[in-house]
Amino acid sequence: MARTVSCYDCGNTYAFDERKRCACGEPLWFETTPDEFAWDDAGAIDDAWRYIDALPVSNPTGVAPGGTPLVRAERLDEYAGCTLSLKHEGQNPTGSFKDRGSAVGIGYALEAGQAWVGTVSHGNMALSMSAYAAGAGLDCAVFVPADTPAERLELIGRHDPEIFRVEGDYGRLYADTLSLDAPVNFVNSDTPLRVAGQKTVAYEIVEQSAPDAPDAIVLPVSSGGQASAVWKALRELETAGAIDEIPRLYFCQAAACDPIAAAYRDDEPRVTPVTPEETIAVSIANADPPSGTRALAAARETGGAVVSVPDAAIRDAMDRLATRVGLSVEPSSAVAVAGVRRLAQRGEIEPSDDVVTVLTGSGYKERYDADVRSRTIDLDDVERELASVVGR
Ligand SMILES: *Cc1c(COP(=O)(O)O)cnc(C)c1O
Ligand SMILES: [Zn+2]
Repeated sequence: MARTVSCYDCGNTYAFDERKRCACGEPLWFETTPDEFAWDDAGAIDDAWRYIDALPVSNPTGVAPGGTPLVRAERLDEYAGCTLSLKHEGQNPTGSFKDRGSAVGIGYALEAGQAWVGTVSHGNMALSMSAYAAGAGLDCAVFVPADTPAERLELIGRHDPEIFRVEGDYGRLYADTLSLDAPVNFVNSDTPLRVAGQKTVAYEIVEQSAPDAPDAIVLPVSSGGQASAVWKALRELETAGAIDEIPRLYFCQAAACDPIAAAYRDDEPRVTPVTPEETIAVSIANADPPSGTRALAAARETGGAVVSVPDAAIRDAMDRLATRVGLSVEPSSAVAVAGVRRLAQRGEIEPSDDVVTVLTGSGYKERYDADVRSRTIDLDDVERELASVVGR
């Protein structure tokens, strides 16, 4: 496919390697044409490489991302206030949707003959890039904040990347790495390669929901990379005639760090940085999101919204997912289910709406100090103790 990138806002186009962002300052994404879809609503999706014709790579690489289940969650309908389905992205090889973007970034690096890739992340993206680079035999530079917890470093370090623990203003590093004079392909949160790969989650949702696309898609948002990708994919599907109308896009943040939701609430044209407070949703705590304004545009143009929810609501949603659906997710994913509930309470989402929520990442990587019910019993009392719980 042609390697042209364009700006959603002013429409300027550039060759991919020409510049990192549009002259207007907004982020860029890869252009596609409608004939790049092999679209047959077959339902069976093996993995994200099904859509390779619409991606800026020619060959599949690594452990295939995607092909994750879309789970109908009847037992949460009442709680969520709608007809709820869950896209289980925790089932990707390293446990989050980031694998979709990493696979495309690494695939591109291989085809371009690049030896080094890099990323600025202290969580899922660092883990995902390290794993995919390892699988492809590429070197990977990972920049994490100096205070990254040891247990998370250990998860990333298993794949043996070069880890740089950076002191100073970590927020600045994101843009800085993109203009470094170094032969390293930085596949950061909202870079065009990553956004291209992450479109595949929306292609899958639409195919798995066929013949009717969902009324709304709800996802957590941090940098705005995934939100942009979903919007882009849906625009492509509409242009290709695969859907009549783009589902409303709703994005959710933790109240402690909600720059995009704040701009939405205040009717601002652009997202500006906030001073963050602590939240359990660490994977989405970006106070200065590089694709924030693009995400804001996606919510507005599709008739959706951006909301934020407090940590207590996030924990509650996490509990419901674990005890009523059997899915363990990280707080940054549960935020979207908490967001659906909030939107339904406000009447923005209706009980008859078919809503797909993207559960972005697995809950099996970290501990969240949840209350655990258990009892210690004596071996001789097993029968009596069991009877006291299950009855006779
Ligand atoms: C990265 C991440 C997000 C946010 O995605 P952005 O593209 O940065 O907006 C949400 N949930 C999880 C689990 C993540 O790892
Ligand atoms: Zn522009």
